[in-house]
Amino acid sequence: MTKPLTIAIDGHSSTGKSTLAKALAKSMNYVYVDSGAMYRAVALYALRKGWVSKENGCDSKAIEGALDDVHISFELDTSGTNATFLNGHRVEEEIREMAVSHVVSHVAKLSEVRRHLVALQQAMGRNGGVVMDGRDIGTVVFPNAELKIFMTASDDVRAARRKAELDHNGQVVSFTEVLENLKSRDKADMERSDSPLFAAADARTLDNSDMSRDDQFELVLGWAKNLLV
Ligand code: C5P
Repeated sequence: MTKPLTIAIDGHSSTGKSTLAKALAKSMNYVYVDSGAMYRAVALYALRKGWVSKENGCDSKAIEGALDDVHISFELDTSGTNATFLNGHRVEEEIREMAVSHVVSHVAKLSEVRRHLVALQQAMGRNGGVVMDGRDIGTVVFPNAELKIFMTASDDVRAARRKAELDHNGQVVSFTEVLENLKSRDKADMERSDSPLFAAADARTLDNSDMSRDDQFELVLGWAKNLLV
């Protein structure tokens, strides 16, 4: 039997990484790991403790000192959907709220947080057969991944997609606020000193501004299948 692949999907915020990653994992019967949800869960924990704010950044010592008390898992919830849990409680929707989006970059730049989460991510993908999406998957978490994809799309397309998602979840947020948040997270992700966002030299770039979900899925599934023959 051919060895199952490790598929790393990185890219800018709201480029549809998780939609593509989930569909690929389902079709290939692989494990899907949303690494962004892990950074969001730590950010939510810090937010609840009052250790981070949009304006003042974060109390890095407090957050780093509490990492062993932050238990993140992906579990099937009562409706049979795979969801993010923080210390035994479902937080799948809460981690996507703007309150978390506004502070997550402050938390994601802390080296201790990154080291901690990267170790968990590497353990989850140890045996291959995994699709993981994030910002540093092909560069840091799985530098030897067989398939690396770097996703991007125009700012307006990304903000419109994200706003539709938030609308769907009943969150009232303006297009401008969503757009500004995407741009500031991209900037913070690309400029941080530890594990900045960039395309790995061997990543295939995918600009999906004018692509349908189905076309994109078929294209990438084709890439994956070619690697398995
Ligand atoms: O993927 P998502 O947008 O949910 O990620 C939330 C934030 O977590 C990103 O803006 C980024 O700051 C951080 N992140 C990261 N490294 C990853 C995944 C996410 O720094 N591998």
